[in-house]
Amino acid sequence: MGMFDYVNLRIRCPICKSFIDGFQTKDSHCIMNIVEVEEINNFYAHCSKCHSWIEFNRKKEQSARFLEFDKLERDFDIVVKEEKMRDNKKEMWQ
Ligand SMILES: [Zn+2]
Repeated sequence: MGMFDYVNLRIRCPICKSFIDGFQTKDSHCIMNIVEVEEINNFYAHCSKCHSWIEFNRKKEQSARFLEFDKLERDFDIVVKEEKMRDNKKEMWQ
């Protein structure tokens, strides 16, 4: 049983521009596997050259699920109430 997994990523340090390929994450099974960036929300590394701490946290908007309306329609009864607006107020919402 390990403490983390390795991340399959190699990027340049934003500080010293040397390559970093030692990214780690605790978001997966923590069995010293190699995981892809797409599978995780947080990963981090120390630059071995300038010792800067570099950590990535996925933005919340990106992790929110986006569903097509007709997929929800299959499982839900949906109520939609169209807002009736006077013409002089319409531009506020466009
Ligand atoms: Zn660096």
